[in-house]
Amino acid sequence: MINYISYEITEFLSPAQVLICSKCSGIGHFRKQCSEQDETCKTCAQAFPDLKSHQCSASPICKHCKGDHLSNSMKCPVIKSFRAELTRKLLSSNTNPTAVPPNNNNNNNYRFDSLNFPPLPSTQAQLNNPMMSKLDDLIGKINDVKDHLASLTLKYDKFEKFMVEKAKHDIHVSHQIDTLSANDQEFKKDLLNHHMLLGRHENFFTKLFIPILEEVFSWMAVQNQDKKGNTLDADLKCRLERYVVQMRKTREGKHRFN
Ligand SMILES: [Zn+2]
Ligand SMILES: [Zn+2]
Ligand SMILES: [Zn+2]
Repeated sequence: MINYISYEITEFLSPAQVLICSKCSGIGHFRKQCSEQDETCKTCAQAFPDLKSHQCSASPICKHCKGDHLSNSMKCPVIKSFRAELTRKLLSSNTNPTAVPPNNNNNNNYRFDSLNFPPLPSTQAQLNNPMMSKLDDLIGKINDVKDHLASLTLKYDKFEKFMVEKAKHDIHVSHQIDTLSANDQEFKKDLLNHHMLLGRHENFFTKLFIPILEEVFSWMAVQNQDKKGNTLDADLKCRLERYVVQMRKTREGKHRFN
């Protein structure tokens, strides 16, 4: 049953695609192409006008080689050599790449097999040649590997770009850190300068200005006495003594801060 149309199978191929005529047992053609007038018995190799009426009881004798087998037997050396020749031709005629997919439809009466159909050498060569189908598989796998490699290469390129960008970014970050670090150094220098300035002010105040004032105040205290050592102005003397105490406290206070 092929596409819901029943065909009477009257021709067949040996497993290696050798076409044997079901009418005359001839090799290399099928019944509709047969030029023989009578049908030939596969067993006794005799030709009969009406084979259906022939009830063969003879022992097999081959039409091709006269051997003790049926005329369509694959044991026949003539058929074998024909098959070998056909196989050789099929292997060398791979010019047509169109392959017919195998079409296995089973019903109760017969099993469809593309091998049972006449050889269409150029189209079936690819299909029926295991070496070619293996080569096709191999080429398909090689193409798969190529595709895989291409996608890997693409991914690697992306990764490489990412790494280049990352390196650039890292350099940028490094620069920023350097800048920050430099700023920090500047800041530290500034702070040191401030400390130095403060220290100078303190030194100026405690080590130069206060001693001068003390000198001045002690001279004023001397001036505030008469020749017998009595105080002339008690109020001035009191104020001078208070200033001296305050300056001493200031000097000691500065020492505390340092
Ligand atoms: Zn024939
Ligand atoms: Zn017969
Ligand atoms: Zn034979």
